[in-house]
Amino acid sequence: MVSLTFLGGTHEVGRSAILLESSQTKVLLDYGVMLNDEPGFPAHVRASELDGIIVTHAHLDHSGAVPLFYLTERIPVFATPITFDLVEVLIEDFIKLSSYFLPYEFLELQNMMRNRVELRYGEKARIGDIRFKLINAGHIPGSSLVVLEADGQRILYTGDLNTRDTHLVRGARVPGEEFDAVIIESTYADEDHPERSEVEKEFTGRVRGVVSNGGVALIPAFAVGRSQEVLMILRSNGYKGSVVMDGMARKVNEIMLNNPQFLRRAKSFGKFIDSAKIVRGWRDRRRAPRRPGAIIAPSGMLEGGTAIYYMEQVALDEKNAVFLVSYQIPGTGGDKLLETGRFVIKGRDQEVKAQVARYDFSSHAGKTELREFLRGLKGEPKVYVLHGAEGNCKLLADWVAEELGLEAVAPDSGDTFKV
Ligand SMILES: [Zn+2]
Ligand SMILES: [Zn+2]
Repeated sequence: MVSLTFLGGTHEVGRSAILLESSQTKVLLDYGVMLNDEPGFPAHVRASELDGIIVTHAHLDHSGAVPLFYLTERIPVFATPITFDLVEVLIEDFIKLSSYFLPYEFLELQNMMRNRVELRYGEKARIGDIRFKLINAGHIPGSSLVVLEADGQRILYTGDLNTRDTHLVRGARVPGEEFDAVIIESTYADEDHPERSEVEKEFTGRVRGVVSNGGVALIPAFAVGRSQEVLMILRSNGYKGSVVMDGMARKVNEIMLNNPQFLRRAKSFGKFIDSAKIVRGWRDRRRAPRRPGAIIAPSGMLEGGTAIYYMEQVALDEKNAVFLVSYQIPGTGGDKLLETGRFVIKGRDQEVKAQVARYDFSSHAGKTELREFLRGLKGEPKVYVLHGAEGNCKLLADWVAEELGLEAVAPDSGDTFKV
């Protein structure tokens, strides 16, 4: 018998963390943070009890609290090689921005990196009596589904899941095995994404229009994944104008170039990266908005990051545009901009003159894709639904119970289940 304890990411998007215990072994699946003004952490686990940690992908809501276990311990931590490279960059940046609130420092991050075990997709691995492998999750380069077997039970954890191809990564396939338990995300359990190719054409057309009128199109986007996807969308749809990338883009682009096996179109990616201007400092940054072109800069929700500087430069001129490409959490700068057309610029709440629009380039499965994925699974697994806001976990769990006739729950934090 295996027990699953949900430590975070229940009825929320953030701080994903699951403790899996077999008769002999204790393993953590992800240990992320909740990104708020002050970072939030999953429920506590004693480091000395753990035999291993598996990280599905680099995003901080799955990886950001892992260094907590490396104050003294030497626990093996498993992920794909590109995930470790990206985690290192993301957590370094996180420590710089939030060190005051963090119960760990660079030393713990280094210690964590020293205990890493890199796995290729499909490579068989074990921690104690738990056997497992990572397979492509389609969400960002290196993102993984985890397929585990312990005490005769087969368990699937999706991490963040995308079943459709994007320019950057191939979509996830439904694993062929029969499962006894499935833990699945539900970010978009209530919403279908629009037809991707249509959105890409419209978006690229708008950017082209702005730039050919002498304007700047600011595209606030997260530095890992979304920024690179936006560049690929623009170039693949024939946009030939200038593209400037800011934020951690240089480091992140290099990591992706060094791990081509985790990219769907590695050759094009290299070519497109060569065509972009990478901001190396304030000289480049000040110069960028003075010329017509597209600027891709974090943060994706206009909460901090260099996108705020660019907003000050572009927002008050109607020949410019601000195109949001991520989900906007209610209350963030980006959400407020969409709702009210206003933004705080240099301390003053002002009306934005630039065009404002949002395009859906999500890297998560939409409602229909989540359902198709679940429908495609073999066996009669119990289904646990996580990683969804505002009733989405329950929505998907109820659908599974009613439509698929499987046992399904949206667990609360601290709940333990026997499989
Ligand atoms: Zn993610
Ligand atoms: Zn996530």
